[in-house]
Amino acid sequence: MSDVAGECSSGQQMITVLGSTGSIGVSTLDVVARHLNKFSVFALTANTNVDMLERQCLSFAPAYAVMQDEASANVLRQRLSSANINTEVLAGSDALVSVANDNAVDTVMAAIVGAAGLLPTLAAVKADKKVLLANKEALVMAGSLFMNALSQSRATLLPIDSEHNAIFQCLPNNLDQRNSASYDMAGVKKVLLTGSGGPFREWSSEAIEKATPDQACNHPNWSMGRKISVDSASLMNKGLEFIEARWLFGLSPNNIEVVIHPQSIIHSMVEYNDGSVLAQMGQPDMRTPIAHALAWPVRIESGVESLDFMSLNGLDFERPDLERFPALSLAMSAASQPSSAATVLNAANEIAVDAFLNGAIGFGQIITVLESVLASANFIELDSIDAVIDADLYARKMSDAVVASL
Ligand code: NAD
Ligand code: MG
Repeated sequence: MSDVAGECSSGQQMITVLGSTGSIGVSTLDVVARHLNKFSVFALTANTNVDMLERQCLSFAPAYAVMQDEASANVLRQRLSSANINTEVLAGSDALVSVANDNAVDTVMAAIVGAAGLLPTLAAVKADKKVLLANKEALVMAGSLFMNALSQSRATLLPIDSEHNAIFQCLPNNLDQRNSASYDMAGVKKVLLTGSGGPFREWSSEAIEKATPDQACNHPNWSMGRKISVDSASLMNKGLEFIEARWLFGLSPNNIEVVIHPQSIIHSMVEYNDGSVLAQMGQPDMRTPIAHALAWPVRIESGVESLDFMSLNGLDFERPDLERFPALSLAMSAASQPSSAATVLNAANEIAVDAFLNGAIGFGQIITVLESVLASANFIELDSIDAVIDADLYARKMSDAVVASL
């Protein structure tokens, strides 16, 4: 990777935003719009939200826009052509890969939610891009293969998840993250992964079991897409982040500790063997980690307000309650199993959360689906992306059957 990561000859970084119509995609374009001298948009992609992708194309005039299906792509094509916008509209998974690994692209924001983000994100890594990783599910389902692909490439991987971005900022600059000996040399003792505890932090198990989708999506501190909001309510999000941290930073699960910090002001910490603990702090606004990664290794303005210490009413810390939030426990144990455990857990969780959001199952039944699918699976090391995709599809079928039986 060049010193100033991924710059084209005009000095501007050419960016593809995968999942530009989601919460992270919109925040990314907000930061990009503040620095149009530094960034230029090559491609924007969406699942089905034609209206928002159209508005984004009118604002940023990307070379390409990708919709998931051909019917939505046709609608977008017609609208952009009537508005005299020259954006070429494509459809489908292959098109996502082609806008992620195109020669003209320097930087890829991987902000598709769920397993659908894996292949285009991996394509960006293999094409030596600067990859900004929001899509934690890609690392959860294929962590070791993903990190191997990174090692064999000249890509740079920068974490967007606020906790992992915080850890990245608190680790020494010159650390070789893929070499555990370098952690010892740097005196890193452990990583403290913080989490707000979500909207149900103080609820009883009985109340949590009966929670509605609107209650689950009503996060006290962060505004996010619906899937990650439900994961934050069950603490599965912290569990997925535990697995994500393990792969991103090459850590043993024993060196990662989850700490509940309800105010979401500290975004995570690194403890060193001399007793020092470095924390990264800031407003709970994803534009901070996004701006950090977009401009890395320099800093740019993100639009996020300063932290006003005088108005903070203290910072609290608690142990996570694994009894009321068993999803965290399932994920932490999957981190120490052969790799298919995390692949299966991620797929079952995507199906169960979708079923919950669609009213097919209750909040308490998300864990029933996860436990039932995990209990019926044999865990093995998945040694290829095809094997990961097979395990993912198999777990989805099993999960659909469990959902149907509830
Ligand atoms: P979101 O639901 O708001 O947006 C998801 C985006 O992905 C949308 O643009 C959607 O059109 C696209 N998409 C969904 N399914 C797709 C499919 N099958 N094919 C192609 N595109 C598809 O989600 P979000 O909150 O922006 O989260 C995106 C990712 O970032 C997730 O992996 C999430 O865990 C991670 N993340 C989000 C936050 C946050 O604050 N929102 C924080 C940390 C990590
Ligand atoms: Mg996070």
